[in-house]
Amino acid sequence: ALTALRHLRSGLALWGACFCAAFEAEVLHTVEAGRLLPPGAVVAVGASGGKDSTVLAHVLRELAPPLDVSLRLVAVDEGIGGYRDAALAAVRRQAARWELPLTVVAYADLFGGWTMDAVARSTAGSGRSRACCTFCGVLRRRALEEGARLVGASHIVTGHNADDMAETVLMNFLRGDAGRLARGGGLGSPGEGGALASQKEVVLYAHFCRLDYFSEECVYAPEAFRGHARDLLKLLEAVRPSAVLDLVHSAERLALHPAAQPPPPGACSRCGALASRPLCQACALLDGLNHRHPKPVRALPPGGALLTTPVPGASSLSMVLRRAGL
Ligand code: SF4
Repeated sequence: ALTALRHLRSGLALWGACFCAAFEAEVLHTVEAGRLLPPGAVVAVGASGGKDSTVLAHVLRELAPPLDVSLRLVAVDEGIGGYRDAALAAVRRQAARWELPLTVVAYADLFGGWTMDAVARSTAGSGRSRACCTFCGVLRRRALEEGARLVGASHIVTGHNADDMAETVLMNFLRGDAGRLARGGGLGSPGEGGALASQKEVVLYAHFCRLDYFSEECVYAPEAFRGHARDLLKLLEAVRPSAVLDLVHSAERLALHPAAQPPPPGACSRCGALASRPLCQACALLDGLNHRHPKPVRALPPGGALLTTPVPGASSLSMVLRRAGL
């Protein structure tokens, strides 16, 4: 049976090569219109082996010649037994098939021996055990920055689809996290030339391009608060099909009272990364872990966390590639 998706802007039902060509053309237009990747950029692509990062890497590989950019895959090994090894195997297959250089950075090497499994053991029963993904998200961002620095990247791109973004907006509302909501703005809007790729579109692109990706869920995902936001979003979509895009656009246009605006970021006093407090989130989390568990899996290197150098000169953006799902 033919599988097709109605194109949001043209209203055409597209499938196969036409769907993929339209998908890639919108990404190209978005990158060029937003001047997201200047000619000559060295782009570190966050590669997890999952569908979003796989589609992102494939689309950027197709677009690298017209954009005149070079790509480096950077994968993060969080140290999650029974999950990450298989996902990294998918990344290695992709790197070999697409002939892209791959660098793997591991939490254990970067964060004084801490793996996600060690974090989970340390926080179990402490009331923080449901926060594995909070730790993981903060540490992964730092690990990606370190990977980008290692490969000499000028830009970092990571893959998120519109559904992920809407879940994030919901989570931030439910937590009352004005700072994150404020940082979630500024993504542009379809009226400004961008387009968001839904989860369905990302899956369909991967299907039509016969992409090999890893689709199993992380062992810690069932504990994550994101799951509640996902369930709520499904309920909302059942009564309002445009809920995903509406939520993302709401966050983009949100105007916060000046008192709720986060202060301009400074530099972490320990590692130099962007931080709105004396310590960046990664260093603060590692301090908390080391305080609770003073003998982690491996000894800390002199000076504590290894991440002492920010990406030099990089506009270290967590870029939301509209339509490609970042
Ligand atoms: Fe990390 Fe949570 Fe994602 Fe697992 S589900 S890889 S713990 S952020």
